[in-house]
This record gives sequence, C-alpha cells and structure tokens, in this order.
Amino acid sequence: MKVELPKLPYEYNALEPVISEEIMRLHHQKHHAAYVKGANAALEKLEKYNKGELEINVREVLRDLSFHMNGHVLHSLFWEIMRPPEDENKPDGKILELIEKSFGSFESFKKLFSASAKQVEGVGWALLVKCPNDNFYVLNIEKHNLMHIAGFKPLLAIDVWEHAYYLQYKNDRGSYVDNWWKVVNWDKVNQLL
Ligand code: MN
Repeated sequence: MKVELPKLPYEYNALEPVISEEIMRLHHQKHHAAYVKGANAALEKLEKYNKGELEINVREVLRDLSFHMNGHVLHSLFWEIMRPPEDENKPDGKILELIEKSFGSFESFKKLFSASAKQVEGVGWALLVKCPNDNFYVLNIEKHNLMHIAGFKPLLAIDVWEHAYYLQYKNDRGSYVDNWWKVVNWDKVNQLL
C-alpha cells in the first residue's frame, strides 16, 4: 500500500534556466518527499484502524490522505511532463487535435491555462484534464485537494506553490508561468493520452 518518491526522468539542472537546480532539488527531495511521507503515515494509521489497533479521527486522517496523496500524484505528473527548455515548444499529434477541438486553438488554450495558473488563490495548481468523452477542461486546484473533479484524467500540471518558483522568481509568478511553457514535454503528454 505504501507509495514511493519517484526518480526524476532528468538531472536536477536539466530545466535551467527556466527552473533552477536549487529549486528542483528542494522541491523533489524535501517537498515531494514530505507528501510521500504524509501519505504513507495516513495509510499506516488507516491500516492500524482497520485491524482495531488504533483509534483515529477518520475524517481528519482521510483529509490528510487526500492532501498528501494528491500532492504525491500531482508532483509525479509534474516531473514527468517536463524536459529541457526549447524556445519554440508546441504540441503536435493527437494532443494538439484535442486541444484545438476543446479550446479552438493552442494559443487560446495557453491563454486560459496560464490565466488559471496565475490566478490560483494562494497556493495550488493549474491542470489540463480529459473527461471520458475526450473533452478537455482546464481546472484550478487550491492547495492539493479542492475543486477537483473526480474521474477526470490529468494530462498537464503546473505547480504554483511558492516553493516551485520563489527562490528564482520571487513574487513574479507570472514570469515563472510564461517561461514554464518552454519545458513542457509534449511527447510525454501525447503518450499519457
Ligand atoms: Mn510542489
């Protein structure tokens, strides 16, 4: 039942200058690792509760599980859908076709997704998700676990918690979001489809 911290599919400095090595190290080794630890702690409590060995506040533990498990799942996706920066970085193939079907054009999708990321209140994520009829939606996630539509498959995610950009971009989340498009691994997103 335990979850594990996945290895990054590239070196810690591979996304520079868009995302610094220092941010990537801290983000992966400290922040993501903490969500893995939190998810496993909640799973362990539930296991003991199921065996009658521990009394717990079920609502509280399930909330912890959702928060940390979503943190783990979203970070795993976030690492996977990035690669070293390219100036002209655009999707092609099936993903482009479905983006155009749902949003009209890649440019309108990029505008909506960027606005979603820039406008997350406090900390959270912007997500591109696919629903069972192949329609795409852009979602805003506050923290890790609110405003999430169950059953939708996440395809693209940007982390806009401050730990994802503050050391390099300070309070300029907008520049981080604008630069981030250079490191999107569209081949990977196409595979996830
Ligand atoms: Mn994060």
